[in-house]
Amino acid sequence: MTYVYRFGGGVSDGGKGDKNLLGGKGANLAEMASIGLPVPPGFTISTEMCTRYYEDGEQFPQTLRDEVAEGIAHIEAVTEKRFGDPTNPLLVSVRSGARVSMPGMMDTVLNLGLNDETVEGLAKAADDERFAWDSYRRFIQMYADVVLELDHGAFEEALEIAKEDNGFTLDTEMSAADWKTLVAQYKALVEEQWGKPFPQDVHDQLWGAVGAVFGSWQSERAKVYRRLNDIPANWGTAVNVQAMVFGNMGDTSATGVAFTRDPSKGDRAYYGEFLINAQGEDVVAGIRTPQYLTKAAREEAGAKPASMEEAMPEVYGELAAVFDQLENHYRDMQDIEFTVEQAKLWMLQTRSGKRTAKAALKIAVDMANEGLITREEAILRVDPAALDQLLHPTLDPEAKRDVLTKGLPASPGAASGKVVFDADTAEKRAAAGEAVILVRVETSPEDIHGMHAAKGILTARGGMTSHAAVVARGMGRPCVSGAGSLAISAKDKVLRCAGREVREGDTLTIDGASGEVMVGEVATVQPELAGDFGTLMEWADEVRRLKVRANAETPLDCKTAREFGAEGVGLCRTEHMFFEGSRITAVRQMILASDEKGRRAALDRLLPEQRSDFTAIFEVMAGLPVTVRLLDPPLHEFLPHEEAEFAEVAQAAGLDVDTLKRRANELHEFNPMLGHRGCRLGVTYPEIYEMQARAIFEAAIDVAEKSGEAPIPEVMIPLVATRRELELMKAVVDKAAKLVFAERGREVDYLVGTMIELPRAALKAGEIAEVGEFFSFGTNDLTQTTLGVSRDDAARFLGAYVEQGIYAKDPFVSLDVEGVGELVSLAAERGRATRGDIKLGICGEHGGDPASIAFCEQVGLDYVSASPYRVPIARLAAAQAALKR
Ligand code: PEP
Ligand code: MG
Repeated sequence: MTYVYRFGGGVSDGGKGDKNLLGGKGANLAEMASIGLPVPPGFTISTEMCTRYYEDGEQFPQTLRDEVAEGIAHIEAVTEKRFGDPTNPLLVSVRSGARVSMPGMMDTVLNLGLNDETVEGLAKAADDERFAWDSYRRFIQMYADVVLELDHGAFEEALEIAKEDNGFTLDTEMSAADWKTLVAQYKALVEEQWGKPFPQDVHDQLWGAVGAVFGSWQSERAKVYRRLNDIPANWGTAVNVQAMVFGNMGDTSATGVAFTRDPSKGDRAYYGEFLINAQGEDVVAGIRTPQYLTKAAREEAGAKPASMEEAMPEVYGELAAVFDQLENHYRDMQDIEFTVEQAKLWMLQTRSGKRTAKAALKIAVDMANEGLITREEAILRVDPAALDQLLHPTLDPEAKRDVLTKGLPASPGAASGKVVFDADTAEKRAAAGEAVILVRVETSPEDIHGMHAAKGILTARGGMTSHAAVVARGMGRPCVSGAGSLAISAKDKVLRCAGREVREGDTLTIDGASGEVMVGEVATVQPELAGDFGTLMEWADEVRRLKVRANAETPLDCKTAREFGAEGVGLCRTEHMFFEGSRITAVRQMILASDEKGRRAALDRLLPEQRSDFTAIFEVMAGLPVTVRLLDPPLHEFLPHEEAEFAEVAQAAGLDVDTLKRRANELHEFNPMLGHRGCRLGVTYPEIYEMQARAIFEAAIDVAEKSGEAPIPEVMIPLVATRRELELMKAVVDKAAKLVFAERGREVDYLVGTMIELPRAALKAGEIAEVGEFFSFGTNDLTQTTLGVSRDDAARFLGAYVEQGIYAKDPFVSLDVEGVGELVSLAAERGRATRGDIKLGICGEHGGDPASIAFCEQVGLDYVSASPYRVPIARLAAAQAALKR
């Protein structure tokens, strides 16, 4: 067969473990079946069919119909039931399954194969009329929603009214006759909304569902999810058709989801939830509150309803054995769906479980220590970008808290923000720069853009495996779910709880680690690298080749960076120092001076200030290299705006305000990014760089004298395009060094080098390396100048570029390896050809981006430099890049 792969009942059509072909779910079902686990028989229509379906204008080839017929025959043979048979009917589930899991993003239809005749057959075969009609109403509701795309609200409403009329609160109180009545109402609803009766032909049902699953691949929510997670559209989804097993066949039946380890904290304990007499969707949808899997978890939570371990000890024992078998087989923590049908266990899914960064670290370190995986594998198991979650603040234990209520600790981290009640508002207010907390009764895939935009997510309903919890953990957003005492009205934009009201725009704080919800903002504290984090970092450091430095310009930044493991400063921008306190007046005086004498007078005032800046930084970074970049931005950025500012400068410079204003006007530039900035400042006003170089060397000698440990300054000239520019600027720096060393009678080692941030510099790197002792790739400007895209204005249109695949990712975030990368590797090559030991690094934002770091490893740079909070991410990414080479 070409597109259909059968599994279960001892049959396997191959493709086992091939996620690209069968999708994650299909591949793992086939694999579980092949290692002897109880998997209901079924077949997978491959992802290749999805691609072809869209290529052919959303049609199926005739050959697929024949293959699917064979697939159904296989299920019939194993189950000894017949699809559409009124006496012994086979029911199937139809589920999507892409290469990577996209939780809640795509469609599922359960109980397919029921119609007015087969429902009677099912009732007889199961000897349970209530169960049969419950299944039928579930099927109609799901099919109407997913396949026919009718308004599901009307169906839910009909069910609510039916329960209300009977005085019931739970679905389980509905009798066979009640369900039967509801089914009639549902069928009428379908006919009314769809214009045709509910399809009775089981084959029509099946093809409708298969089409809907393929169709869901191009749904808006799936597209958004793919964009957020970098999943290419051409991967397609597979469709899995599988014999139904029933968790809703009475009290010896159940359904549940489980993880082989705690996905939130990473502890080695089975973790999960189950519901007696229910179908899988009930657990995920958060309609009924599920029970705990283990006795220990139930006791810890202080919950009453029996755990599965207590309620169904035998099946639980089997399940636990399966957990161990699966973890050993896949050598990773598994996320599992199972169903118990009349005391018989069935496995419906397994996959690598999504986990918080904290859990990822603990699981990787534990598994390496258990000998299940190697240390190298442990390093590769943790997504560097996910570490971000741990590098963020948690609630200050000392801070005052005005606790409103408590829900489930669904995704760790603390967040404060303004309350919003819908995803669109969350997105809007976040885009306007506000921190928001998205508050929902429960979330659904339609909310995904709002969840992404929000700082935190709070729901009133749903367990630890609800949509909100799973998605928030994947995104690294703090989340408190199932805060049941919240009465939320999204319509009136208000939530009520404990006699209090919180309206849209009011501030709430949530703690995803404890589940606490607090009114107002609560202070937070910085994280530290300890425990498993520290261990994994040590292992990473053992294998990485690239050094990791930090972009830091204050002593505090330097301290943070050093604590996070930075091995030096890769970029100390000096311009911000010029704004501090009273310095700005001296800077303005310098800029507006009409001659060198005026500039020198102002620079003399700046020298001691600049020296003390460098002294403070060198003290923190003692013994490590510090790359100090001389002044870079266009001068007009420092100009006065207000009258009072002009007056202040006028007084300091002894000039009149009008002259100053005229000078300021003269400094206006049409295109300042390509204007009088970078080394062009040094070429025209060498005294500026002279002062900065002097400050650097005086500070270095001061620190060396005081601490005995000399820093290693690397003086960096920005925006160089030609050898001659660098030659001139190096002469200025060397002269300053010579003077200071003579004055002080002491020397320090130093280097003079340049940024490579213009295409010309990259091309002429061979010549530039004759002068420069190091290169640091300024990939922010290099991207801007290579692409001809302004880094300050790109946000407006880059989204469209990424959406249409022109650039795979935002090139200012992740290096455009093909274009800008070619310049980097060419410059590295040419620079090395001239000067074999030239030091090469990167200090653009890309230095903290894992994909770009992998590129830096390939090109053989010596170091990457990232913002202090990204240093651990860079350390791990560098280790992974080294291992993958
Ligand atoms: C760069 O251009 O990449 C760089 C690091 O310099 P800046 O961002 O300060 O222009
Ligand atoms: Mg730059």
